[in-house]
Amino acid sequence: MVDLRGQYEKIRSEIDRAIAEVIEDTSFIGGPAVKRFEQAFSEAMDGAHVIPVANGTDALQIALMALGVGAGDEVITPSFTFVATAEAAALLGATPVFADIEPDTFNIDPATLEPLITDRTKAIVPVHLFGQPASMDPILEIAERHGIPVVEDAAQTVGARYGTRTAGARFAGTMGQFGTISFFPSKNLGAYGDAGAILSRDPGLADAARLIANHGSTKKYHNEVVGVNSRLDAVQAAVLRVKLKYLDEYTDARVRAADRYDDLFDELEEVHVPHRANDRTHVFHQYTLRVLEGQETRDALADHLREADIPFGIYYPVPMHWLPVFAAGTTPSRHGSMDETERAAGQVLSLPMHTELKDDQQERVADVVFAFFGISRR
Ligand SMILES: *Cc1c(COP(=O)(O)O)cnc(C)c1O
Repeated sequence: MVDLRGQYEKIRSEIDRAIAEVIEDTSFIGGPAVKRFEQAFSEAMDGAHVIPVANGTDALQIALMALGVGAGDEVITPSFTFVATAEAAALLGATPVFADIEPDTFNIDPATLEPLITDRTKAIVPVHLFGQPASMDPILEIAERHGIPVVEDAAQTVGARYGTRTAGARFAGTMGQFGTISFFPSKNLGAYGDAGAILSRDPGLADAARLIANHGSTKKYHNEVVGVNSRLDAVQAAVLRVKLKYLDEYTDARVRAADRYDDLFDELEEVHVPHRANDRTHVFHQYTLRVLEGQETRDALADHLREADIPFGIYYPVPMHWLPVFAAGTTPSRHGSMDETERAAGQVLSLPMHTELKDDQQERVADVVFAFFGISRR
């Protein structure tokens, strides 16, 4: 699905030097590498406060802790997402409340939110899925009207913007009270191990999150609140600072690859290519087709790709409200109507997408998909 090796080869000397510097310096915990990445990433995110943490799941948990989410509270999140989004709320004793998605963007549908809000709702966590921001204006409007904070799960969407350029576009992760990013190796800005960050425009909330990420203390042995140990590793920070310089280039490469797929699948009526809303950018963490005939055909296409040695992914085959952990009653959860989520789970199939994808590789993918449907590609 990704070619991390090819990407590394191109920046090998810079990366090797950055890693060697950390080892030379022996500042393995915190230290200049982490500070420098924090500053560079803050600048890249239009000056938002950055709290570096160990991974994207921790980022979600710490953001919710900083908002005081705890036992008996409810957190609204889409059912069509990676488990971490709901898990973070459940870990804190809160009840994940699942909302349905928009059929075109796969993101949480703002129209489904209001009926799910109760006086126990302590946060709304939209996910910017596959690299395209959720419909943030209506989400923020509803949240504000009810006085509920928003935590954007921007794990898959670093560098994407919401809003048109002229009307003050904002980065995914910088619109709500908090935003969370994952630097998992295959994410758009991938480290060489686990890494993550929390974003906030609110200095008070940023301080609260920073405190929690560091055992609840700013001064050693003067712990003020119950926190966690979640640090960005110094070696990962050094890698990320090098790769951050190339983020725009990486995004352009992904968008070019997506454009090529769009062209290749233009005439194949059996699938829908990803919808691109015109008021936001899509950074294509995934290039996700919808197989219109549904699950049986989707699964048969998956088998066909496997036999042809074409990597693919199904994100996500099981919606959160069906997962044993949330559906079986051991972990309380609640949800509204799930028609679009369930339809998407049976139709989606993600094709290889990365910065090193070549035309001929994409043509081969298209050939195999067309052949499955018994159609010859012009
Ligand atoms: C990757 C991902 C996470 C978790 O990130 P980790 O760094 O792996 O902990 C959370 N939410 C979504 C939507 C993700 O894709």
